[in-house]
Amino acid sequence: MNREIVLSADLGGTNLRVAAVDRDGSILFRTKRETPRTEDAQEILCLITDEAEKCRRAVESAGKVLGIGAVVPGTVNAAEGIVLKAPNVAALNEFGIGGEIGKRLNLPCFLENDANAAAIGESWCGASKGFQNSICVTLGTGVGGGIIIDGKILRGIDGTAGEVGHICVEPFGAPCGCGSRGCVEQYSSASAVKRLAYELGEQFPDSHLLKNANLTALQIYQAGKSGDALALEVFRQQGFYLGIALAGLINTLNPEIIVIGGGAAAGWDLFLPFIENEIKSRAYREPAKRAKIVRAELGDDAGIMGAARLAFENIAVVK
Ligand SMILES: [Zn+2]
Repeated sequence: MNREIVLSADLGGTNLRVAAVDRDGSILFRTKRETPRTEDAQEILCLITDEAEKCRRAVESAGKVLGIGAVVPGTVNAAEGIVLKAPNVAALNEFGIGGEIGKRLNLPCFLENDANAAAIGESWCGASKGFQNSICVTLGTGVGGGIIIDGKILRGIDGTAGEVGHICVEPFGAPCGCGSRGCVEQYSSASAVKRLAYELGEQFPDSHLLKNANLTALQIYQAGKSGDALALEVFRQQGFYLGIALAGLINTLNPEIIVIGGGAAAGWDLFLPFIENEIKSRAYREPAKRAKIVRAELGDDAGIMGAARLAFENIAVVK
């Protein structure tokens, strides 16, 4: 067989996913390992290339492996293949991992950050497939964003564009890891949903949620579904603040579709009405009507699909 195949590696704070993907977006083989807790960049590099070799061997008879896309949870200089800052995998800070992976595998390697890769993956074969102007928002530990305009990922001059999570929605609000305060990440991420549940607990002393010291976003959602007033207030705030940020993006970028994914999208039906309400009351009417708000489709595969797509696109350019 002479199918065209790329490898893709998605390094997260918790897991490393590596796959072999063909040009139609079919995953031919995949592996998953825990991300090593280490200060040694070489250890992470070795794990990625070992898993990539496994994938390459597994698809040997199916076709030719042309390159590899790699995704890291942090800011990157994509052109140079360098990780700038990866708070959850700090060993990689300022490490030229793209070049190293490429050298070890003898393949062209293309580096991208996780939020951009998710946006590219969803627009290749997920919820925003077929749309040229999309915004992908991932509600995880933080709030990640990837913006695609006229079919191209928006990078900005330094490659840091798309940081939707650090749009300020509350000028004197909760301090944020980025150094600012009141960022939407502080109200709409999975971590924020949990924090809000405990913070707002005082106003809802009867809530059963407060008996649990280790709440998850999913448990808060389940409580909300059964009518828990504290949980419902948490999701109201999550949607309200995210809606403010999205209304601004809709006015600025006029997207066709906004895709929302990540663990804290679990509360979807409880927070969506509040997002829609803010968009309706804050954004211009035409772009607000135009922008579809939908749930992500690829789940944990968004990163590897985005990395694969990026590798196919760039290989075509290199050729
Ligand atoms: Zn921030």
